[in-house]
Amino acid sequence: MKKEAVVGIDLGGTSTKVGLVSEIGEVIAMQRFDTEGRQEFSSFVDRLEAVYNKIITENEGLDIKGVGIGSPNANYFTGQMMNPPNFSWGKRVPLAKDIGDRLSLPVVITNDANAAALSENLYGLGRDLRDFVVLTLGTGLGSGIVVNDKLLLGQDGIAGEMGHVNVRPDGRMCNCGLSGCLETYASVTGIKRTVFKLLADLPMPSKMRSYSYNELTGLMITEAALAGDLIAQGAFTYTGEILGTKLADAVAYLSPQAIILTGGLTKAGDLLLDPTRAAMEERLFHMYRGKVKLMISEVGGEHDAILGAAALAWQEFN
Ligand SMILES: [Zn+2]
Repeated sequence: MKKEAVVGIDLGGTSTKVGLVSEIGEVIAMQRFDTEGRQEFSSFVDRLEAVYNKIITENEGLDIKGVGIGSPNANYFTGQMMNPPNFSWGKRVPLAKDIGDRLSLPVVITNDANAAALSENLYGLGRDLRDFVVLTLGTGLGSGIVVNDKLLLGQDGIAGEMGHVNVRPDGRMCNCGLSGCLETYASVTGIKRTVFKLLADLPMPSKMRSYSYNELTGLMITEAALAGDLIAQGAFTYTGEILGTKLADAVAYLSPQAIILTGGLTKAGDLLLDPTRAAMEERLFHMYRGKVKLMISEVGGEHDAILGAAALAWQEFN
């Protein structure tokens, strides 16, 4: 009997990763290419097909059950990407249909944060949990909610967009057009904005005074904080306070067993976890206090989103 596998695709604004994944979550092979979201969508499908053919040829003898794709603004129900920012592919991109036709395989799609939640549910810290929330803290902030072992979808598959809940009515402008959204504070982009605000407001010396906004990375802020830089440490405290406050709201709505954080900003570890946990506990209604675990994902690494997309495909096509 042929070994069964699915194709997991992590379609991001910068790069796209294509992986072959077994049912137990083993990544058999993976390839990456530039998404070039400003080119035509048809050119993306051409390049995806070429990469798929190459990876299948190099790993022959597999029985491919289907394709799962995690991408920004993906609608599980329609199979379309809805008006994705950072892409010039139109308002409704027929992702599932066009890729399915080209690869002659069934395709299911979901937004990238939901894919991360599925990945935790099948292969990560969520394996033994029934109710939990996953937040991806990267360029933006995405979230996926698992209730009673099922991904919460809502009416159009995008339930739980915590990145755009309001922190401050007159707060920072967000790419989505609203002001004061959580992702403008609690994400890699958000903490960079905080660093520059603190540099403007406070007089102390900081290594980060010598970097431009575009040069500064989340990792540089983490390293500076660990080396005792007060601005960097202050930025983590500020970020954690805001994130923890909104997590307390989420706990009141969902009463989850755990909240799992993943994405670039979580490389900071306790620098982020400690102030977030303290702020969350401080603002929790007493009945929830001390009961919700706040953890950093262990699935991690570059396979994370591929595994989530693959988990969805296994769920749909097995
Ligand atoms: Zn927003």
